[in-house]
Amino acid sequence: MKFVSTRNSELKVNLSEALQMGLAKDGGLYIPEYFPQFDWESLDPNISYPDFACQLLKPFFNEDELKEKLHQICKESFTFEAPVITLDEHNYVLELFHGPTLSFKDFGARFLASCLSQIKSNKSFSILVATSGDTGSAVAAAFYQKPNINVVVMFPEGKISHRQERQITCWGDNVLALSVKGNFDDCQRLVKEAFGENWWHQRTYLNTSNSINIGRLLPQSTYYAYSAWQFYLKHKKQANYIVPSGNIGNVTACFWAKKMGLPIGDIVISQNENNVIGEYLQTQLMPNKKSIETLANAMDVGKPSNFERLSKLLGSFDAFKATITSYKAADTEIIETIKKAKEKYNYIACPHTATAFFARENQPSEEKLKPYIMVATADPAKFNDVVEPALEEKVELPQRLKLLLEKEQTAKHIAPDMQELMNVYSTTFDKIP
Ligand SMILES: *Cc1c(COP(=O)(O)O)cnc(C)c1O
Repeated sequence: MKFVSTRNSELKVNLSEALQMGLAKDGGLYIPEYFPQFDWESLDPNISYPDFACQLLKPFFNEDELKEKLHQICKESFTFEAPVITLDEHNYVLELFHGPTLSFKDFGARFLASCLSQIKSNKSFSILVATSGDTGSAVAAAFYQKPNINVVVMFPEGKISHRQERQITCWGDNVLALSVKGNFDDCQRLVKEAFGENWWHQRTYLNTSNSINIGRLLPQSTYYAYSAWQFYLKHKKQANYIVPSGNIGNVTACFWAKKMGLPIGDIVISQNENNVIGEYLQTQLMPNKKSIETLANAMDVGKPSNFERLSKLLGSFDAFKATITSYKAADTEIIETIKKAKEKYNYIACPHTATAFFARENQPSEEKLKPYIMVATADPAKFNDVVEPALEEKVELPQRLKLLLEKEQTAKHIAPDMQELMNVYSTTFDKIP
């Protein structure tokens, strides 16, 4: 299996190269050359999640130096569960927040960290990450104290939740946390710009662990595949999904699982006020807006990187329109939905997850009788400043989060400016001769 750029199918690389480069040379994103069909029907129904993931991902590792390591990578990355909770006969929740930093980002970040630390290399490398909240903590946790790797996490100052910020700034050592005076798109632009600057390439193998990196998306397809397979074994029906979306990576991974032949029906996108997909469906114009701040801040993305992957997969605007339904939840609707989910199902949803519940409530009645799995992207405890006032009650603080919150904080502040980024990188990481 080779990986090609979304912008040029002649630009082929091995998996390890795609993982190391992050972004393709032509500025496109790497995608698999094709999607192999996965023979889930003949699987032993009792195999473990890591074993299942290993089977699913095997073809993508086929021709690569990491092939022999895949089993170990799956075992050390997927150390926590992705349970499907039953709300009622037609409504389910796929909880993706049982990892170390309490969002689905742990799946991708840990898998990528494990892959990168297995690749043989003579130069150290640097992971540059822009985060709208949850990627930063997941990546910092996954790469913390990995030898020969420097991590720079940039987050928009004052625009992420208090607990998200503490989970990014609590590491130190090889993790540099940067509070950037700007929004998420400014942070993402700095990452992209760095790839065009020789300054970085002279020093280090530059990498990013944003969902630009294919090493994030491949592992994310495993929880859709696994949950759809388990759902089918239990209910003899295809599962339909609603995925809270921002940078469109998570939902693209769901489409990939479907493309591999897993029993997945419809895939619905839920967004906050940054409903770029809804607008694209109306205007046919590529999303490229300034992001708006909302209560579901990990979805505050105006120009989603993975749009390029999803539209490539679906082929044309007409196919996109025929396949995708999208819903938008405004902040007031997010709050209302958090209350409603608690009343109706006794379920506590984070603000992002609430957008999926909102979409479900607003689907046409014929959809209501089909089984839908709403994707819970983060633990509500991460967003206690939104959820607790809405419910007028305390949300339980998981022990692993409590431990992170108690650690000492270190963050540096910069303007959204390349020179400032280079300066702070040098003073932190360049060895004085
Ligand atoms: C990152 C994130 C999202 C958005 O996922 P994308 O892959 O960017 O679409 C949704 N919810 C939470 C909690 C997140 O951390």
